[in-house]
Amino acid sequence: MTDVDALVVGAGVAGLTTAISLAEAGLATRIVTADPPSRTTSVAAGAIWGPVRCGPADRCREWSRVGLDVLTDLAGEPAAGIRQVGGREVSQEPASPPDWLDLLPGGVAICAPSELPEGFTAGWRYTAPVVTMPAYLDYLLSRYEAAGGLLEIGSVASLASPDAPVVVNCTGMGARELVPDPLLEPVRGQVVVVRNPGIEEFYIDHALHGSDYVYLFPHGDVVLLGGTAQEGAWDLTPRPHVAERILRDCSAVHPRLRGAQIVAHRVGLRPCRPEVRLEAEDIGGGRVLWHNYGHGGGGVTLSWGCAREITAAVLAGAAPAA
Ligand SMILES: Cc1cc2nc3c(=O)[nH]c(=O)nc-3n(C[C@H](O)[C@H](O)[C@H](O)COP(=O)(O)OP(=O)(O)OC[C@H]3O[C@@H](n4cnc5c(N)ncnc54)[C@H](O)[C@@H]3O)c2cc1C
Repeated sequence: MTDVDALVVGAGVAGLTTAISLAEAGLATRIVTADPPSRTTSVAAGAIWGPVRCGPADRCREWSRVGLDVLTDLAGEPAAGIRQVGGREVSQEPASPPDWLDLLPGGVAICAPSELPEGFTAGWRYTAPVVTMPAYLDYLLSRYEAAGGLLEIGSVASLASPDAPVVVNCTGMGARELVPDPLLEPVRGQVVVVRNPGIEEFYIDHALHGSDYVYLFPHGDVVLLGGTAQEGAWDLTPRPHVAERILRDCSAVHPRLRGAQIVAHRVGLRPCRPEVRLEAEDIGGGRVLWHNYGHGGGGVTLSWGCAREITAAVLAGAAPAA
């Protein structure tokens, strides 16, 4: 048997938070990942707290509640790259705020018509944690290493092969082939990061226009502009015409963005599944395989809740249902 109690496959936000949670609970752990955190889907996220494009609603609500507590606490640590940001979600069609916004301590305020852009009929304001993913992933990796964790670059060909009592599958879209799991579908997101001309509030157009989103999140010196939700698209190369469309639409919201210096183009594949897969499987030899993937457009929000649920079950020595 190996020298670790638990081996985590994947180093996106799901893998890092799970590995931290297990390591900080006293388990000897290792991460094996095909890509470093800086080259995952997680680094492309916006990322605002909110369980979007994920299910089931009741479990996601509870995982989001845990995530909100952790991200709120971390907003006090400069190295974590998290800020509480206020802003608006607006819609051209009649719409109302999603239920889960009631978890926010500051609540939600419905916008008066005078607060809406021309042609918009509904909108609401709130303040939520916004996560600067490159900084946050660096912070998570440092925290994991400080807890004694080790990260190794390498591709896992079979989830039954790692020689550890507990294996946790946090492979995002990689799970489609590795498990295999045909229920997992990529929803491609492309964003553009520009120098911040002084924007302090987030803006989300609530509606999806075909596969186009219009949103922006300030991150101090830079602003992340989005975006897209292209179902079934796998390519990770930024498409120039999509970047131009994002810049045009976001500049229409904030004319100060016209001509802003471009810092980065990013693309990620949201690992969408009808339901997040968080469950244990018996893989023989007294070993347990935990699946933790399929978080869709809410993986940053859900990650700590999922990590804590797995850690509690591992510490309790819970046997898989099947
Ligand atoms: C544009 C965009 C905006 C988003 N905005 C938000 C937001 O505002 N809020 C929010 O909560 N969420 C948001 N999301 C969703 C969130 O980013 C994802 O749900 C989350 O990043 C998924 O994390 P993950 O760790 O499961 O997967 P990933 O980040 O993809 O990590 C998977 C890991 O598994 C590894 N791996 C895969 N296969 C193998 C293998 N065979 N062997 C070894 N390693 C393997 C990879 O190398 C990688 O390290 C957004 C996503 C996108 C694309």
